[in-house]
Amino acid sequence: MRIQSPSGEEENVQAFVSSKLHEIGFTVNEFSNHPKRPNLVAALKGTQAGPNILFVAHVDNIPAGEPLNWRVNPYEAQVLDGRIVGRGVADMKAGLAAMIIAAKAIRESGVPMLGNFSIASVVDEELESEYGMKFLAKNALVKADCAVFGEPSFPYVDIALKGGVWLKLTTFGKSVGSGWPESGVNAVTKMAKVLLELDKLVLDEKSHYLLGRATISPGTTIRGGLMMHSIPDKCEATVDIYTVPGLTTGKAVSIVVQCVEKLEREDPDLKVKIETIFEANAYELEQDAEILLNLQSATESVFGKRAELAGVPSLGDARFMADLRIPSIAAYGPGEKGKGHILDESVEINTLVGVAKVYALTALRTWNP
Ligand SMILES: [Zn+2]
Repeated sequence: MRIQSPSGEEENVQAFVSSKLHEIGFTVNEFSNHPKRPNLVAALKGTQAGPNILFVAHVDNIPAGEPLNWRVNPYEAQVLDGRIVGRGVADMKAGLAAMIIAAKAIRESGVPMLGNFSIASVVDEELESEYGMKFLAKNALVKADCAVFGEPSFPYVDIALKGGVWLKLTTFGKSVGSGWPESGVNAVTKMAKVLLELDKLVLDEKSHYLLGRATISPGTTIRGGLMMHSIPDKCEATVDIYTVPGLTTGKAVSIVVQCVEKLEREDPDLKVKIETIFEANAYELEQDAEILLNLQSATESVFGKRAELAGVPSLGDARFMADLRIPSIAAYGPGEKGKGHILDESVEINTLVGVAKVYALTALRTWNP
């Protein structure tokens, strides 16, 4: 079955996933805050009220770009040299497929299910998760004792995610003809001063063992001035901050605010407005978390060795699990780490099958440690 599902057009693929889950015996609930973008939260109930393990996948993908640049039509999911090639394969329909295969295998084997096997198939991950995981988490629509996100990570297991803050800065000046600039205030050069100062900031002395240090990139966009011969009275710029566990977004913003306030005290003509457009805290799972130990022992059984721990240098849906207090693997999936948004995106079929086995064994070991 080949169904396209760029962000915003997930309805058809979710209908297909829902029918597959029903076939296996899942109870499927649909939750959405957009008429055409349903999220599925499904549970295969165990015979006993043991732990509920949740597997999470997003069905949306980024556009393929120019199809002619691909070895195959990106929307036809062809098999080449033991790999399935197509947009959204690694990131992350293969992860979702592995979860469904794992549930089906457990069901058909007749092995006692001492807890629940849950799957959340969500939309809108590639944008801001507003209609997907963020919505589900905010309304506590997913419940679990532990979770695994099937994002591309192979052969690693990602247990930490960066956080982020996007700031919008505005400086204000006084517009005059540029023949007599001394009587005006240039909002653009004021902004330049602010950005150069922010560029020197160290947000955190400490380096995280998987993610490195928090970073600040001042002036990722800038806009100011209306015409050639006029002193600009307004300038806007954005600042992109990445945080790591140990540094909250609130603390990062306060460091920026303090720096700007110091400049304002030194320069009476400098006026800066700072707005937060987006923020998300970093996420980290403890190394002794039970879900990690179970997944690692399952990985060893299937692949002969444990997965090396790693972090994701960007934001991901696992961050929403912190508020729900669900210990979560940020990414363990058959797609290879860092190979999500590339041309000729692909997944190795052997790895896909292996990861499905790891998911099944992880569930069994979570129910029956
Ligand atoms: Zn993804």
